[in-house]
Amino acid sequence: MSVSKSPPKSRLATHIVALPKSGIRDFFELVNSMEDVISLGVGEPNFVTPWHIRESTIFALEKGHTSYTSNLGLLSLRKEVCAYIARTRGVEYDPKTECIITVGVSEALDLAMRAILNPGDEMIYHEPCYVSYSPEIKMTHGIPVTVETREENAFTLEPADIVKVLTPKTKGLLLNFPCNPTGATLDERRMGEIADIAISRDLIVVSDEIYTELTYGERPNSIAALPGMRDRTLLLHGFSKAFAMTGYRMGFACGPFDLIDAMMKIHQYSMLCASRIAQEAAMEALRNGEKEMLRMKEQYHKRRDLIVKGLNEIGLACRPPEGAFYAFANIRSTGMSSMDFAMTLLKKHRVAVVPGTAFGACGEGYVRCAYAASYEDITEAVSRMREFVASIK
Ligand code: PMP
Repeated sequence: MSVSKSPPKSRLATHIVALPKSGIRDFFELVNSMEDVISLGVGEPNFVTPWHIRESTIFALEKGHTSYTSNLGLLSLRKEVCAYIARTRGVEYDPKTECIITVGVSEALDLAMRAILNPGDEMIYHEPCYVSYSPEIKMTHGIPVTVETREENAFTLEPADIVKVLTPKTKGLLLNFPCNPTGATLDERRMGEIADIAISRDLIVVSDEIYTELTYGERPNSIAALPGMRDRTLLLHGFSKAFAMTGYRMGFACGPFDLIDAMMKIHQYSMLCASRIAQEAAMEALRNGEKEMLRMKEQYHKRRDLIVKGLNEIGLACRPPEGAFYAFANIRSTGMSSMDFAMTLLKKHRVAVVPGTAFGACGEGYVRCAYAASYEDITEAVSRMREFVASIK
C-alpha cells in the first residue's frame, strides 16, 4: 500500500513548547545535589501526617477498600466536606451535586480553569503568586492577566487595581488568601468591593483557600459567603497544608451545580476518581483532625515569630505574614537580585530560600522563606543568613 508522504510535523503542542519551565528548577536541582543544606525552600509541612489519619489509611486497606469510588468522590466524604465548609465558612453546598473530591488542590485548579475558560478568555490573578496559576491558565488557552500586590499595602489586593485590567474578555478572577508566597490576607472591605466587581462584570471567582486554616489572627471569611457570590464562586481547598497530607494528594471544590458538573466531566475522563484510601484518610482528618491541626498551627505561629524577628534584625525587612507558612523578605538592602541572593546564600552558607521572581516578575527584590521547617533549623538558618548579610555589607 502506498501512502503519500507528509512534511515533518512538530512533535509537541505549540502552547506547551511556549510554556516556560519553572525558573527555580535548576536551583532546586542544585539544592538536592548538596549536603548539609537547611531548606526553607519547599512549601511543605515538616510534620508527618498525624498518626490517627495514617492509621485510618491502614485500616481502609485492611478492610479491602481498594476500589474506584464515584467520580465525584465518596458521598460520605463529600458530606463531611460540605458540613466542614458550612461550619467554617457559613456556606451551604449540596454534597450530592455541589462538591467534587480531587487529586489535591492542583487538580481542582486545573479542572476549574478547563471548565470555565474558552481560548482567549482572560483570567485575572494577583502576583506574586503560586507558581502554577499562569501555566494552568495558559494550558487551557486562556490569557493570564496579572494584578500586582505591593509590600506597602501589606501585599493585599486592591480592588481598584482589578478594575484597571478588566476587559470584555475577562471571564474570572483567581484569588489566593492567605497568599503563597506573601502570607497576605484580604480584609472584609476589599473582599466586599471585589465581590461587587465580580457581580457587576458577571465574573466567576476561583478562591484557592488552601491556607485558610493557617491564619494566625481571626479566621478570614470566604468570598463565597458574601451576598450574591455563592453561585459564581468555586471554593477550592485541600488537606495538604492544614493536615500535613501533601503526599495523599487530596483536595476538593465546592460550587454551584453547573460548574461542578462541568469539572466532573473532565475529572471523569482524565482521572476517574481520587484515590479511595486517601479519601478515607481525608474523612478521618475532617472528623477528628482539628486538635492536631491546631497543634501544628501553634508551632507554625511560633516559628513565624522567630523567623520574622530574625530576618528584621539582620536588616531583611519582613512583615509578619498573616497566614500560610512563608516569610517574604525584602532583600533590596543587599543590592543583589533575588536569584543572586538565593544562589550565593545556598552555595556559601547552605541555606535554601526561593527567589521572589519564581512567583512573578514583581517578586524581584524578595525571597520566600518557608517556615514549615523545625524551630532548630530556622534558628540555624537565620544565623547563617546573618553571617551572609554581614559579609555583603
Ligand atoms: N494552591 C496553593 C496556593 C499552593 O501553595 C499549593 C501547594 N503549594 C497548591 C495550591 C497545591 O496544593 P495540593 O495540590 O497539594 O493540594
